[in-house]
Amino acid sequence: MKSFTYQRADSATLAAAATLKPGAKIIAGGTNLLDLMKLQIETPSSLIDINRLPLDKIEDTPDGGLRIGALVRNSDLAADPRVRQRYGVLSRALLAGASAQLRNKATTGGNLLQRTRCYYFYDITKPCNKRSPGSGCAALAGFNRIHAILGTSEHCIATHPSDMAVAMRALDARVETVDREGGTKVIPIAEFHRLPGNAPEIETSLKSGEIITAVTLPPPPPGVQVYRKVRDRASYAFALVSVAAIVDCTRGRIRSARLAFGGLAHKPWRSARAEQRLTDAPANTATFNAAAKAVLEGARGFGGNDFKIALTRRTLHSVLAETTRT
Ligand code: SF4
Repeated sequence: MKSFTYQRADSATLAAAATLKPGAKIIAGGTNLLDLMKLQIETPSSLIDINRLPLDKIEDTPDGGLRIGALVRNSDLAADPRVRQRYGVLSRALLAGASAQLRNKATTGGNLLQRTRCYYFYDITKPCNKRSPGSGCAALAGFNRIHAILGTSEHCIATHPSDMAVAMRALDARVETVDREGGTKVIPIAEFHRLPGNAPEIETSLKSGEIITAVTLPPPPPGVQVYRKVRDRASYAFALVSVAAIVDCTRGRIRSARLAFGGLAHKPWRSARAEQRLTDAPANTATFNAAAKAVLEGARGFGGNDFKIALTRRTLHSVLAETTRT
């Protein structure tokens, strides 16, 4: 392992400033970063530990939403009574992620910033544009069972691994940041994660010199909330396909719907067209088919992951049947 310096940050602005140093990395729970360091995929020159900053509170906001500090642990967020009662989709998504031990350490901010689990990204003997820009993408013609079918590029077909972020996308969360001068910014989660394009190494809109301080949730939308995760084993596995759904349906008619998907793209995926197909429509197979068709518009398999197209369709049908059952 390459040697690195370690410092504890005294304030969020100092932590933000410290990230401007070449090779500097923020560490919070460390559940992803330490693995990456052990494999020499991340080789920071310095670690800035933010665990002592006062960013571990969950607070009500005046509009009826919640403000979640960046250092709130995944377990604490999932167990918070307000999250369980008003944002069930988020609580379930968190509990579907990782293992109990990891959830006890992993933080809200770190969860948003975790790196892909593409096998080739973790194998330094293989080409990977995300790890080593310009080297190629071994997954395109390789073993790509877990890879993306939407929003891909010829440079990268990796997926974003978070469950939490998928629920937050359905909830229209906003990411709050601070920079080295104390300037704050609010980034809608839809704009926080990026598609790979020709620069898959840039995964979020977070700039150097900025750190995440909180995530805010607007008041919960009306409707039944469901998080469904399909994976290779019942726990401690990443999603092949996941759906976060919030569907408001009365007497067989859908009034509104929000759908976000995990396991399909480089970022939590949302389809406005699919939601339009569901809005003010009867809750029946034809409507569900139209929504699935809209979600999968432009979907492309790469061999090993072709099955995700049919799996997404079936999973969405099942989730819509559950959320519209009267
Ligand atoms: Fe690297 Fe992305 Fe290709 Fe995986 S899919 S090998 S992360 S470039």
